Amino acid sequence: MKTIESSSIFSPATGFIRRGGFDFTCNPYLGCTFGCKYCYAKFLPQNKYPRELWGKWFTAKKNAIGLARKEAGKTVGKAVYMSSVTDPYQPAEREMCLTRGILGEMLRYQPRVVIQTRGSMVTRDVDILARFQNLRVNITLGSDSETVRKLLEPKSPPYESRWLASQQLKEAGIKIGICITPVLPLENPERFAERIIGFGAAVVVTQGFHDSGGAFGADTSPLALRVVKELGWNQEKYLLFVETLRNQIRVYEGEKGFFPP
Ligand code: SF4
Repeated sequence: MKTIESSSIFSPATGFIRRGGFDFTCNPYLGCTFGCKYCYAKFLPQNKYPRELWGKWFTAKKNAIGLARKEAGKTVGKAVYMSSVTDPYQPAEREMCLTRGILGEMLRYQPRVVIQTRGSMVTRDVDILARFQNLRVNITLGSDSETVRKLLEPKSPPYESRWLASQQLKEAGIKIGICITPVLPLENPERFAERIIGFGAAVVVTQGFHDSGGAFGADTSPLALRVVKELGWNQEKYLLFVETLRNQIRVYEGEKGFFPP
């Protein structure tokens, strides 16, 4: 772990985040110890470490909360995406509380906020999250299979703990986005679709698991692609899954699903 003094904590949004309507991105950390095998962030220029070390390091912006105190005023009437190159609820957040501190500083300015995470730790901050007038927590849930999770995102929280977190936040009145981005190989696509439909999320987003050439956020690594192929997952199965969802609910695909509340 490394800590740095950052020069800013709210950066102008770029790429698909900007196109989605966000004004700022907020990354309390660089790097991510969830270390998903398919993570697009490891390909980004902000990542100064060799790609094979992805998931083994993170850098904390130790002055993040102080910066947020100074800069949060500029988020009035704006939309903030948290986070674009890291997970704001990766394990280090439990001790460091940078995400929590930044949210606390933003509260009085009431920007529109999307929290994007695989971290079930997000429920810790329900007291702050519930006080935003326009906030959505996007929980990424790539599959229904723990076998798949252990192959492709072994250090991220088990899916059931993410479902539980989603339910707890929803019961606290917080809008939830379910992001199956990317859709990893599924054990029982029909049952998974039923569960998603039954949950009643504010937004549901899917994304195919393929090499996007960097166009949108899942520039999948060759290793991840190989695992997916070995598990017999393919584009046809993905499309069938999306159709099953679409028969009953609105589904956004890819970057079209990333917009502020
Ligand atoms: S949680 Fe997100 S940022 Fe972290 S490794 Fe996985 S995909 Fe990358």
